[in-house]
Amino acid sequence: METELDSAEILAIDQAHAWHPYTSTIDRDPVYPVHSAQGCEIELMDGRVLIDGMSSWWCVIHGYSHPVLNRAARDQLERMSHVMFGGLTHEPAMRLVKSLVELTPEPLERVFLCDSGSVAVEVAIKMALQFWISAGRPEKHRLMTIRGGYHGDTFDAMSVCDPVTGMHHLFSQVLPQQIFAPAPACRFGEPCSGDDIAPFVELIERYQGQLAAVILEPIVQGAGGMRFYSAEYLAKVRDLCSRFDVLLIADEIATGFGRTGRLFACEHAGIAPDIMTLGKALTGGYLTLAATLTTGAVAETISSGKPGVFMHGPTFMGNPLACAIANASIELLLAGDWRDNIRRIERALSAGLAPCRAFGGVIDVRVLGAIGVVEMQEPVAMREIQRRFVERGVWIRPFGRLIYLMPPYVISDTQLAALCGAVCEVLGENSA
Ligand SMILES: *Cc1c(COP(=O)(O)O)cnc(C)c1O
Repeated sequence: METELDSAEILAIDQAHAWHPYTSTIDRDPVYPVHSAQGCEIELMDGRVLIDGMSSWWCVIHGYSHPVLNRAARDQLERMSHVMFGGLTHEPAMRLVKSLVELTPEPLERVFLCDSGSVAVEVAIKMALQFWISAGRPEKHRLMTIRGGYHGDTFDAMSVCDPVTGMHHLFSQVLPQQIFAPAPACRFGEPCSGDDIAPFVELIERYQGQLAAVILEPIVQGAGGMRFYSAEYLAKVRDLCSRFDVLLIADEIATGFGRTGRLFACEHAGIAPDIMTLGKALTGGYLTLAATLTTGAVAETISSGKPGVFMHGPTFMGNPLACAIANASIELLLAGDWRDNIRRIERALSAGLAPCRAFGGVIDVRVLGAIGVVEMQEPVAMREIQRRFVERGVWIRPFGRLIYLMPPYVISDTQLAALCGAVCEVLGENSA
């Protein structure tokens, strides 16, 4: 057994060799070495303990090191960590596939397991394209979406991210050119007027002959701007897709598993997509795993066309360890009264963040389910604000103009108050 690295050694290697998400290797953001994490607390190597307001990017819904998930992981390790999914099958994956079909909206019945959210989006897009090739309409190969979205960092996923906040300018030479409707102006809880949806109607009507699918995040646009839009808008999009013969892909990677107050955000509008992507909270934040679900009709069309098979198959497809933990995570979620719990968090975030409305530079405060957002007029000074949050014992990582909280569902009222209190204090100082 090698001796453990100390904090200085970790930082030295990090500085010399590691690359962190969306960072420069020259003008480096500070990083904080973590020793361990339990429940809603992250313990740094210098002994400081931070209350987690991020769920490690939407994933860790049951908190860190949960005894039930730890046991599921250990039990599965004793049997097998991995076997290939080509030609083999196993209980962890079949239990997962069955429960995903049972939990998601009705016509979704075929599940393709894959490694990460971005890959699930690639798989969804490939399904849509292969569907139209098999249906004898290969000219339907473009995608339409709404501005303000985020669907991942691989190339086709990037092509449907928001063209301004995403990476379109950088990769314009190679990204497929997709169709963008304006972001929905009607907010969650509001009706959606004919004017609100008119630009979408016009575009889908004009491009229907070229469109394979519409892809969007239902109700909550996450990393593209943390906006919550009207359920009526989503219901209208569903109707338009059916009317104009375009598939609907609902990217539930961020919203799935209760985050918005419904198990899946599509339920707010009572709609079912033709293809759905899941990820992030699927394994309770333990391992990377994602899934793309589709209807029997889409699966059968693909399978009866040419080449008669769906052309995708990741090495770690159906990884038994990840599936076993996902099964335990879903069981844990459904065993508790998660709806009431999300409502509790929603109330606490609404009350706790409300004072921010009075601060200079704040243009909006909004809460839906276990997501609380403070939107600023100007981009925040991330490093500085991050340091002040850490000093106050909370882990909150803003991006752009947004300071947001999406804590693990097991967070206590006291911890929630501490998170909201820290946001208010830091923004209050800023505006003073
Ligand atoms: C995070 C996210 C993705 C990408 O998932 P990765 O696991 O990071 O590849 C795709 N779509 C949405 C809506 C997401 O929030």
